[in-house]
Amino acid sequence: MARVYNFSAGPAALPVEVLERAREEMVDWSGSGMSVMEMSHRGKEFMSIAEQAEADLRELMAIPGDYKVLFLQGGASSQFAMVPMNLAGATGKADYINTGAWSKKAIAEGKRYCAVNLAGSSEDSKFTTAPGQADLALSPDAAYVHYTPNETIGGVEFPYIPDTAGVPLVADMSSTMLSRPVDVSRFGIVYAGAQKNIGPAGLTVVIVRGDLIGEPLAGTPTMFSYATQAETGSMYNTPPTYAWYLAGLVFQWLKERGGLAGMAEVNRRKAEALYQAIDASGFYTNPVDPPCRSWMNVPFTLADPNLDSTFLQEASAAGLKTLKGHRSVGGMRASIYNAMPEDGVQALIDFMADFEKRNG
Ligand code: PMP
Repeated sequence: MARVYNFSAGPAALPVEVLERAREEMVDWSGSGMSVMEMSHRGKEFMSIAEQAEADLRELMAIPGDYKVLFLQGGASSQFAMVPMNLAGATGKADYINTGAWSKKAIAEGKRYCAVNLAGSSEDSKFTTAPGQADLALSPDAAYVHYTPNETIGGVEFPYIPDTAGVPLVADMSSTMLSRPVDVSRFGIVYAGAQKNIGPAGLTVVIVRGDLIGEPLAGTPTMFSYATQAETGSMYNTPPTYAWYLAGLVFQWLKERGGLAGMAEVNRRKAEALYQAIDASGFYTNPVDPPCRSWMNVPFTLADPNLDSTFLQEASAAGLKTLKGHRSVGGMRASIYNAMPEDGVQALIDFMADFEKRNG
């Protein structure tokens, strides 16, 4: 079996052990004689899969009992709308922090439903840093504060959790959830598209504090109501059953590896090694302010952009795939989520050193 090192930002590499287990269970899940894909979402087999996945996620993230965990569809992009639709009614105003491409999309969508106050921005630095706590101009009457703890495209990460003085904090954790322990009680809502650290595309995980679940704005589609989704256990309609099952296998894989504390150690080592290699070379550059460098998405440029396509071709031939940077920024980007082993990062570092020697 030939597996490559896949540095895609998402959909991203999944742990091979998870894929193999899914293969073993593909046509006959646990003696049921059915694939999980073929099961009624309300049958006892799938209910047990769904409940186990939620219990495992609660354990991994130490999610307090007063939070609901929703397994939805529509991607993180739908949460850009669901958050204001469900929370903005309280005061009609919301604070947003702008740290790059994904914050901007959340802000644009938020503006359709409420008055948006830009409470902080790193646009002046071309999004190479995150605003500090003292730079935030938060409004006391905001219904919530929205931010993006990890900007997947810019590779910028908040080194702290903003203090919002009691205003519910909403975090788009699409590209950082499960990469390390996080104190869920600091947040009103945490949401993430699954296709990076959680499982396959098609599933969106939303963790929402119970008291924030109420009457959404008039005209909100039933499917977009947290109340409806919470009351029905994410089964108002047919949920993404197979993606939910696969996420459950990822949760078990994480538990077998020491949970999120264990993952954090490995992820820190992987990121440090790659940034060190970049900084030590005169050939590769990462523009991000060191304390705000992402553990998950590492963008870098070559001294000569004319070499980009050769770099990508040779990397691909060496089994290092999907290193092309986002089309909006160019250069390279290595996404090194939980499923990327340390050996994969080392193989990339070795390849980069060799490429520099031949072309630098
Ligand atoms: N937010 C962030 C931080 C992301 O990285 C992405 C996807 N790359 C999105 C939102 C959009 O997610 P989706 O495609 O699931 O809507």
